[in-house]
Amino acid sequence: MLVVMKNDATEVQVQAVIREIESWGFRGIPMPGAQRIAVCIVGNTGAVDDSRLLALDGVKETIPVTKPYKLVSRETHPQSTIIAIGDIKIGGEEPVIMAGPCAVESEEQALTIAHLVKQYGAQIFRGGAFKPRTSPYSFQGLGEEGLKILKKVRSKTGLLIVSEATDHINIEIVEQYGDIIQIGARNMQNYSLLRRAGRASKPILLKRGFAATIGELLMSAEYIMSEGNTQVILCERGIRTFADNTRSTLDLSAIPSIKEVSHLPVVVDPSHAAGRREYVIPLSKGAIAVGADGLLVEVHHDPSHALSDGMQSLYPKQFEKLMREIESIRR
Ligand code: PEP
Ligand code: MN
Repeated sequence: MLVVMKNDATEVQVQAVIREIESWGFRGIPMPGAQRIAVCIVGNTGAVDDSRLLALDGVKETIPVTKPYKLVSRETHPQSTIIAIGDIKIGGEEPVIMAGPCAVESEEQALTIAHLVKQYGAQIFRGGAFKPRTSPYSFQGLGEEGLKILKKVRSKTGLLIVSEATDHINIEIVEQYGDIIQIGARNMQNYSLLRRAGRASKPILLKRGFAATIGELLMSAEYIMSEGNTQVILCERGIRTFADNTRSTLDLSAIPSIKEVSHLPVVVDPSHAAGRREYVIPLSKGAIAVGADGLLVEVHHDPSHALSDGMQSLYPKQFEKLMREIESIRR
């Protein structure tokens, strides 16, 4: 249930509502909006008797929330969320482009790619330092060393940094160095990681699991938000189907479906869906056309020697083409 406060409700009145909710053993989470503040009740399993709330000063009305997820739902937050990091706004008018190699391999590699993607218009540099690899024998990333390189990339290029945390321990380090913390598809339901991400001071980019429904993705986002971090960006990166022409099947319908029920921004990763660089530009254009708030694209200056995901990494010139072609779609 959502308790909507009157326009002129005071902080003291909001706190009184929260205390009343807490006295029933539930939690009341303030949801500031453009016009008014509301308090979302979480933790209840059934209907709540709203008569005591309606009797409190400053309360305008109560609205039942029909979805199992509350804080991510548009029912509790009708306006679309815009996540602002410096000058960059994710979920605003313009799609935001995050690009870079699957993994940070060396300072030279990261800086070379960063300068190129910046030149072609990317705003955020993505590079993995902790890599969740299918095989334990594959390159696992440079760890903190990789994050130090990313810090240098930010200071030399001005690009913001997104990098993945793979567990609730290394998220501490990623939080120190990165501007956005990625949670990968394999970890979408790693609840200790999600809860820790909910206490992080940085926005979280949450990728959809290979076999997760939209509802499950939103419940994972709810874990993060329920711990207090409201800065969540969702990412469609393809799901596993019987189709074997691509690495995963990009579910473009996820974008309008999520936007219908949730206020959170949604970006698309065409690279992990495609698995082959030939498909990345067309899928990116599709993503922008259906309303994605941004893209997460793998780019490498020497993909044939990349330590991970070379086959799906664009050459820098192809990235330049992608940027030109999505611009005409966007317009
Ligand atoms: C990645 O972004 O490099 C990655 C491992 O992606 P996903 O979690 O979507 O497989
Ligand atoms: Mn990758």
